[in-house]
Amino acid sequence: MITSKTQLVGLFGHPVSHSQSPMMQNAAFSETGLGYAYAAFDVEPDNLEDAVAGIRALGLKGINVTIPHKVAIMPMLDEIDPLAKRIGAVNTVVIEDGRLIGYNTDGMGYVRSLVEETGIELEQQIVTMVGAGGAARAVAFTLAEKGVKEIRIINRSLERATLLAESLKSIVSTRIVEQGEGKEAIADASLLINTTSIGMLPNVNEMPVPKEWLHDQLTVSDLIYNPLETRLLAEAKAIGARVHSGVGMFVNQGALAFELWTGKKAPTEAMRQIVLSQLTKTAE
Ligand code: NAP
Repeated sequence: MITSKTQLVGLFGHPVSHSQSPMMQNAAFSETGLGYAYAAFDVEPDNLEDAVAGIRALGLKGINVTIPHKVAIMPMLDEIDPLAKRIGAVNTVVIEDGRLIGYNTDGMGYVRSLVEETGIELEQQIVTMVGAGGAARAVAFTLAEKGVKEIRIINRSLERATLLAESLKSIVSTRIVEQGEGKEAIADASLLINTTSIGMLPNVNEMPVPKEWLHDQLTVSDLIYNPLETRLLAEAKAIGARVHSGVGMFVNQGALAFELWTGKKAPTEAMRQIVLSQLTKTAE
């Protein structure tokens, strides 16, 4: 129940009507009885500065930030956590003593879910990643900081792949995979990650790499969670590879934001169940 003591957090994005975050975070607040509520704010790009001023004016406790504001909000904050700075994007803001502090929980959310769900040892991983966009940056920097052996990048735009590889190379061995070298870059890799939108609803028959490039020694991970099982994951499972879907990243980036705002452990399993039930309902 919302009362005069309720602490408000929310989401700044444009559009936001499709977002699962309000449902997931409100379920978490209700489960823990912490007296918070989460609302979605559709903020047009031209209104972002006013909306950020509104965080202070209205006394919000924190916000999530999504497309198209993850980069644009950075100069409007008082402080940015080093990992978010390296990634170059903020998805969570915490208000501490009136100061707005930016974090990025996408990469940590991904890694937490990957390790919990597959049990792989990060230090042993040779990673081939398809994509070099915002989500790829969050995942790659976090995996690099966690000590994976090597990150290879396959991307449609060579320029974006080069930009990511350049900024990663001081922390991890990095290689750009040129056209025609994809199969070989996956053959001796241990972890294949799709960070592109290829295979996402409604284009569910598309795959970021040909199925012939997959092998049973791989862990195949897809950031997409709609559908829950992409064609890439279905083909990987069929040949005996280990698979990991994007729903865990979504749940854990939210759980980490919850923990930053409240200082309490998030009810991750309840959050996962509500997201899964919603995704299953929309798939029917
Ligand atoms: P983004 O910044 O726009 O990057 C998109 C990436 O996909 C780029 O590397 C782009 O290549 C590539 N790409 C898109 N369409 C392509 C096509 N038809 N052929 C080849 N490459 C293509 O987007 P993002 O924010 O990183 O998001 C990427 C995916 O991650 C989305 O599916 C999103 O739903 C998912 N995601 C999931 C979570 C989660 O919590 N599970 C969180 C964030 C994102 P170019 O560089 O050549 O354009």
